[in-house]
Amino acid sequence: MIPYGKQSITESDLSVVTDCLQSGWLTTGPKVAEFEQRFAEFVGAKHAVAVCNATAALHLAMLVAEVGPGDRVITSPNTFVASANCAAFVDAKPDFVDIDPVSYTLCPKALAQHWTSDVKAVVAVDYAGQTADMPAIARVARDRGAVVIEDACHAVGGQFEHDGTLHRVGGHSWADMTTFSFHPVKTMTTGEGGMIVTDSEIYAERARTLRTHGITRQPDEFIGLGEPALNERGPWYYEMRELGFNYRLTDFQCALGLNQLSRLPEFISRRREIVAAYNEAFADIEVVKTPALRNPADRSTASWHLYTLQIDFKKLEMTRSDFMRALANRGVGSQVLYIPVHLQPWYREQFGYELGKCPHAEQLYSRTLSLPLFPGMSEADIHMVVETVKGQCRIAARTSR
Ligand SMILES: *Cc1c(COP(=O)(O)O)cnc(C)c1O
Repeated sequence: MIPYGKQSITESDLSVVTDCLQSGWLTTGPKVAEFEQRFAEFVGAKHAVAVCNATAALHLAMLVAEVGPGDRVITSPNTFVASANCAAFVDAKPDFVDIDPVSYTLCPKALAQHWTSDVKAVVAVDYAGQTADMPAIARVARDRGAVVIEDACHAVGGQFEHDGTLHRVGGHSWADMTTFSFHPVKTMTTGEGGMIVTDSEIYAERARTLRTHGITRQPDEFIGLGEPALNERGPWYYEMRELGFNYRLTDFQCALGLNQLSRLPEFISRRREIVAAYNEAFADIEVVKTPALRNPADRSTASWHLYTLQIDFKKLEMTRSDFMRALANRGVGSQVLYIPVHLQPWYREQFGYELGKCPHAEQLYSRTLSLPLFPGMSEADIHMVVETVKGQCRIAARTSR
C-alpha cells in the first residue's frame, strides 16, 4: 500500500541520533540550542524555541500573546483541531471564518466582515503548504489591534511571493509568531516536535520560560522569596514566576531535527516534482479539480505538504468511502483532510456552531481527497497513483452514464 504520507529516515538520520544518545545528553543539551539556531537562520527569523509538539507551540503562542478569558481567536475551519483548541486551552473563544475557495486558506475579506471587537489573535493556517494570504490577513488584524499567528505546520521551508519579492515562511514580518510541527506525517520530523519562531525577543523569552514550568534562572529577573532568611541565592537557586509546563524537546530529537533540516530542501523539491506530475496528469479529468494557487506566479515556491484533489463524487454517483476503498484495493492510500473544525461535536456543544457557518470549507470537505505525497515515492508509485485515480474516475463516470 502506498500511504498518503511517510517520513524519510536514512542512515544519516540514524547515526546522528545514535551519536547524540551516546554523548551523555538526552535532553536540554547542546543539540536543542543548535537546532533552534539553525532553524531560525533557515527560515530567517531572529528567535526559535523548540517544543515537544506544535500543539504546545500554539498553546505557548496564545499565552505569550496574552490571550485569555473574554478574548476571541479566529482561525480557519479547514485545519487540524489544534489550530483552534489552543484558544480553548487559555479559556478564550475559538471562532472560525470561512476559507477562500481557491487557496483553501483563511479569507481576509471574510475576516474583516466577521470581525468583532473581542478578537485578540488570528491563527492563519498554511493549508497543504500554500501560505495563507499573510499580508492581507495582517492588515486586517493589526489595524484592529490583534496578534497574528501563522500555523505553518504544513509549510516548513516554504516561500511566497508578494509585490515581486520572495518571502520565507517564518521569516516575514506579517506574522508575530509562526509555529511548525515535526510530527512524522509533516515535511520534516523529530518523531513528535514543534517550533515557535518570532522576531520578538520578549515573546521568545516568555515561550522559553513557559516551556519549563515558568522557571527562571536569570539573576536579573529574580524577585526573591520574601524572607531575608531565604535570601541566599546559591547555584541551586531558581524562581518560578508564572505557571508553565514541561513542553521541552529532547536533545536526540533535536539531533534528528538538525539532520532533517539539512535534508529539507531535497524533500521540498521532490514534493514539488510530484505535485507537478499529479497536476499535469489530472488536468484533463472533468470531475476533479487540482490544487490551485492564489497567485499562479508562485508555482515553484509552495512547500507542498498535502496533495488534495476535489472530486465531484455526486457526478460520479459514488460515495467517497467507496472511492477510497477502490483505491485502497489497488494499493493506493488516501486521506480526508479536514473535517471542518466548527462541525466537530465538542465545538457544536460548546459554542453552538452549525453547518452553514463556513460554506466554502464545508463544500471543500464534501469533495476533498488527499493522495499520497512524500519524498520517498518512486516514479512507479506516482504512475500507479495517477493511473488508479484516473481509472477509477473513468469507471465511475461510465457506470453513472
Ligand atoms: C499537525 C498539525 C498541528 C499539530 O501538530 P502536532 O505537532 O501534532 O501537535 C497543528 N496545526 C496543523 C495545521 C497541523 O497540520
